[in-house]
Amino acid sequence: MLVSVTRRRLVGGAAGGLLVAVCGGRSALAAATFGHPRMPATRPALPSREFFIPYTERPIGNGGLAAGQVALTFDDGPHAVLTPLVLDTLKRYRVRATFFVIGKNAAAKPDLVRRMLAEGHSVGTHSWSHPYLTSLGDEQARTEVVRAQDTVQGIDPGGLPFFRLPYGAGLRKPALLKTLTDLGLYNFYWNMDPNETSAMTPAALLGRCLAEVRRARGGTMLLHDTHRGSVAMLPDLLDSFMRQAIETVVYRVPPSCPAPPEMMPATKGEKAPPGLPAGA
Ligand SMILES: [Zn+2]
Repeated sequence: MLVSVTRRRLVGGAAGGLLVAVCGGRSALAAATFGHPRMPATRPALPSREFFIPYTERPIGNGGLAAGQVALTFDDGPHAVLTPLVLDTLKRYRVRATFFVIGKNAAAKPDLVRRMLAEGHSVGTHSWSHPYLTSLGDEQARTEVVRAQDTVQGIDPGGLPFFRLPYGAGLRKPALLKTLTDLGLYNFYWNMDPNETSAMTPAALLGRCLAEVRRARGGTMLLHDTHRGSVAMLPDLLDSFMRQAIETVVYRVPPSCPAPPEMMPATKGEKAPPGLPAGA
């Protein structure tokens, strides 16, 4: 029952991506809106752009973002103390991010998931309990994925079919990748990783983040809203983005759009066309 409910919900989201990929191609990626009506204009700039990413089975690295665009992503929350601080900072700077929450943490702090969504962020999942899914049997791994998605959808149906593998582990496990595909989940990786460690000072972490942006010129940055250093340096990072005119983006599932009948995906089993760069 658990699986069937999630599958039904998620396949619909993926189908929306397929339709947009058909009718708009990469030009659809340029479609975007600025700002967010719920966010007070407390800062002069840096309203995050929505980035509608077509569904793909392939691992997502930089997400197809242009140079100078950064999608901030936060894993492992929600954390009772640190996640609200991250949300406060993002709100102050009018920045929206993509959160990959651990299912059991979301179940423990459903109000924080609701707050993420209410403040315009995107919420995907990161398994139920953050194991190495590669170390589990196929059914166990599937349950980890499905239970997390069902938990978030149960809290707020605004959760998206976005998924990030714990530790990024799974690229060489076809059965696991097939599970994500069967469920219609996006397989998010990253192309910028400051590699937060407990010993790093906020200043050192900030330096690594900025070095990653210089190296990659933009894309998807991996951060954790469970890491004190990341929470502490986030305002400085966003200040630096403003000085450099770096645009933050929040990943979204494309809205469905009409497609020519002959190109309309006929079944939920069809696959999206390739085209996005693979991730690390
Ligand atoms: Zn994680």
